Amino acid sequence: PSAMREVAIDVPNVSWSDIGGLGNIKLKLKQAVEWPLKHPESFTQMGIQPPKGVLLYGPPGCSKTMIAKALANESGLNFLAVKGPELMNKYVGESERAVREIFRKARAVAPSIIFFDELDALAVERGSSSGAGNVADRVLAQLLTEMDGIEQLKDVTILAATNRPDRIDKALMRPGRIDRIIYVPLPDAETRREIFNLQFHSMPISNDVDLNELILQTDTYSGAEIIAVCREAALLALEEDIQANCIMKKHFTQALSAVTPRLPESLRRFY
Ligand code: ATP
Repeated sequence: PSAMREVAIDVPNVSWSDIGGLGNIKLKLKQAVEWPLKHPESFTQMGIQPPKGVLLYGPPGCSKTMIAKALANESGLNFLAVKGPELMNKYVGESERAVREIFRKARAVAPSIIFFDELDALAVERGSSSGAGNVADRVLAQLLTEMDGIEQLKDVTILAATNRPDRIDKALMRPGRIDRIIYVPLPDAETRREIFNLQFHSMPISNDVDLNELILQTDTYSGAEIIAVCREAALLALEEDIQANCIMKKHFTQALSAVTPRLPESLRRFY
C-alpha cells in the first residue's frame, strides 16, 4: 500500500464548542495558525514573518488532536493529517517520498494546515534511533528541507503534536521552523467542569450527583479519562438494571475506582 493513501484532505467534524475549557489555548492557536494564513499582509506590515510551525505538547488524552481538528474545521482551511508512526512504518524510501508528497499536496490546496500527530515518531533527535539504515534521519532531513522552502510554504502552516517534547530534534524547533510551542495541560477544575457538562448534556444524570465533588475527585484525570468515567458510570447503571433511566452518584463512585488516572510514571516528569 502506498504511504500517500493516508494523506487525505479532509474536513474534520469537530468544533471549538465540542472542546471543554482551554479558552486561552484556542485563542493562541487562532493567533498562531489562522491569522497568518488569513491576514498575511498584517505581518508584512509589521515587518515580520508569520510563524510557520506550531507544536502542541502535553500529556495524552488532553485533546491535542481534537484542537487541531477544530482549528481546521472552524478556520475553513484545508487540513492534511499525518500520524508519525504510520509514516515511519513504510518500506525504505517510502517515508521520505510520503513527506514530499504531503507538502506537495498542502501547497496545491493552500492555504492549508499539515497536522503531524505523534511528531516524536517522525522527528526523533538525530543519532537516537538505532539501525534501520537510519530512515529516521533521512525523514527528518526531508522534513527540514520542506520546511525551509520558505517561498512555497507561504500559505502552509505546520501543526504538530507530541507527548514527548524531549524527543523532538532541536533543528526542527529553530525559529523559522516550528517556532511556537503551546502546552496543553491536564484539565484544570474549570475545564473538567466543562467536559462533564458536555457529557451530561446527553446523559440522564440523577439529582444526587454532585458535580463539584466530581470535579474535586478528578484532579489528575485527563479529558479522555473523564469521558471514560462518565461512560463507565452509565454502563454500571445499566448492569444494575437494563431498564435504568438515570445514572446515580453511586455509579460515579464506582466508576471513579474503576477508571484511575493513567499518566505513565515515565511521562510524569515532563509536565
Ligand atoms: P494523545 O496524545 O493520546 O494523542 P490527545 O491529547 O491528542 O491525546 P485527543 O485524542 O484529542 O487527545 O483526545 C482524546 C479524547 O479525549 C477526545 O476524543 C475527547 O473525547 C476527549 N477529550 C479530551 N479533552 C477534552 C476536552 N477538553 N473536551 C472534550 N473532550 C475532551
